[in-house]
Parts: sequence; structure tokens; C-alpha cells
Amino acid sequence: MTAILTIDLGAIQDNWRLLDGMHAGETAGVVKADAYGLGAARVGPALAAVGCGIFFTAHLAEAVALRAVLPDVRIGVLNGLFPHAAAAFYAHDLIPVLGSLTEVVDWRAAARALGRVLPCFLHLETGMHRLGMTATERAVLAGDTSLLDGLRLEYVITHLVAADAPGDAVNERQKTLFRELAKQFPGVKTSIGNSSGMFLGADFHTDLARPGAALYGVNPTPWAKNPMRHVVTLQAPILQIHDLEPGESVGYSGVWRAERPSRIATIGVGYADGYHRALSNKATACFDDTPVPLVGRVSMDLTTFDVTDVDARPGDMLTLLGPRHDADALAAQAGTSGYEILTSLRGRFERRYIGA
Ligand SMILES: *Cc1c(COP(=O)(O)O)cnc(C)c1O
Repeated sequence: MTAILTIDLGAIQDNWRLLDGMHAGETAGVVKADAYGLGAARVGPALAAVGCGIFFTAHLAEAVALRAVLPDVRIGVLNGLFPHAAAAFYAHDLIPVLGSLTEVVDWRAAARALGRVLPCFLHLETGMHRLGMTATERAVLAGDTSLLDGLRLEYVITHLVAADAPGDAVNERQKTLFRELAKQFPGVKTSIGNSSGMFLGADFHTDLARPGAALYGVNPTPWAKNPMRHVVTLQAPILQIHDLEPGESVGYSGVWRAERPSRIATIGVGYADGYHRALSNKATACFDDTPVPLVGRVSMDLTTFDVTDVDARPGDMLTLLGPRHDADALAAQAGTSGYEILTSLRGRFERRYIGA
């Protein structure tokens, strides 16, 4: 008996349509980290089927894998070009998001050697300080525009520091700076907003939006009700139920002790599946629609719940992630984000794709 991870591709498609309907520009599908753990090989084609024509991965290898299932879309690689990778990029028709002068120079050299114009995005640093052209590098580029010879600059992009906090002044600062910097590339289209960025106002939509998490049902507006459809459901069958007397403990180190005669249900999901150990004694699951508390430590392959107050039997399902208890809710109990909950889900589930 294994746990079942159900991924609603139809809901992902509806979420993309909703986001795409919010603005006039293009809407990408960000499918890095195997589409946030949900399976890029299934999610990518589902998004392409509703009109998504541009995708982003973080790594080259992810993009190469995506190319195998999506021969006709544009695929950008957010982490950029690294030394000696140019041949793999053009062999698979991938677009590097160039984030430094070195990358620009390498990609131009590849274009020259091929005698072909090669597409690229240019990442401009505006406050994140991870990737992107710095002020010094932009000055060099401004002084020598031949650095972009043979390259077709599709979009200049930047990435927001605090898009999920609309009150944070850094959002306006980045937007204003980015607009100013983009003037260095007249006529080139621009891209700012991730999922939450799209909800900061029309100024943040620009020509290309780059949502990831919202497609997968994570709330892009943590300050308000989730506007997205629910996508990910994780259910696990109860393997055994043990009756505990008051004073008896459950699991490693006995961190939970029964205070009343208790029925404890064990499921075959643990931290090795991405069900975080930090959830020990904190999370809830649902039996039908009733919350049941996680008791004791989450162990590698097993977790225990107090089902004293519900009529649960071995073989019945507990819902670890569902519409009543989604990735954001579980994240709050684990002290992390919905992003990390989704990307942590690992391979031991039976995966069911529905809705497309
Ligand atoms: C991950 C990422 C996105 C998507 O972010 P979400 O918050 O998941 O919508 C967009 N742009 C860049 C540069 C990213 O790294």
C-alpha cells in the first residue's frame, strides 16, 4: 500500500489561463526543479496545450529534458550560460539568460563560430544580488555595443526581492531602477514579475510574466485568499492502528505521550518522502474532512496520527495535502514555504495525473 500523489493538470492549465488573462503580454511557465516537484514532462506539455509558448528551467539539464517533450517552444535557462556549455545550448535550441559579461562574450563567440544569430535573455541586477549584470558590467556593455553582435536579445529581465510583500518599498525601487536600466536596450521587451509580482499591479506585468508557484496552486497573494485552483493532493493509507494507554508514548524519543486512551494510526510516509521532520508533533492531516493531529516524531518512512476522535480503520486514507490543507497550510506548520513543501515531495508515491 503506497501513498498517492494526485496532480491536477487541468487545474494547472486553468491557473495559467487565469494568469495569462490578467495582462496583455506573454505568460511563461516556470518549470524549474521538475515543475516544482510535480513532473515537468507532464506539466510542460499540459501548459503548451493551452497556449504557453515560453518556458524557464534553472539548469541546462532540465532544459534538455524538457526539449525532448516540447520540440517547438522557447526554453530559457535562468541560471545562465556556464563555461563550455554553449554547444549544448544551441544543439538543443535553448536560450540562456545571460547574467554576466563573461556569459555575453561566450554566447557571442558561439554565434560567431556558428555564423548564426543566437537568441538570449539578459538578466539585469536590481537588488537581489544573486545573478545578473551589475552596474560596472552594464557600463562596459554600454561602451561597446558590439558585445551583443550576432545575438538576438529577446527580453531584458530582473527578479523581485519581496514580491510577496506588497507593502515593501523595495518593489517600487526595483521597478523604477529596472525601467531606467532597460532604456539602455531600446526596443527590447522587458520581464519582471514572478507569480506574486503579477499581483503587485499592472506595472509589474510588462511584456512577459514568469509565474511558477501560482501555476501549482501556491498562494501568490499570502496577504489574501488564494485566487488559484488547488493542484496537489497527497493521500496515504493507514497501515496499522495501535491502542495506547495513558502514559504510553509513540515513535522515536517518545516525544508524544497519550493523556487519554488513544488510537494511533501509522502511515507509510516520512521525511525521506519530503514530509518534513520539522512537522513532528505539529502538522495535521484530514480524515474525510476532519483534521487529525500528527503525534510524535516524523520518522524516515513512517508517521503517526491521533485518530481517537474519528472512525478510521487500517486501509482508510489520510489526506496529508488537499484542498482543506494545502501546501501553504502544511508549510506554516513546518516553518517553511509552500514552494519547499512541493519541491521536497519525492519518488516513492504512486503519481496520478488527472484533468488533462
Ligand atoms: C523561480 C523564478 C521565477 C518563478 O517564481 P515564482 O515565485 O515561483 O512564480 C521567476 N523568475 C525567476 C528569475 C525565478 O528564479
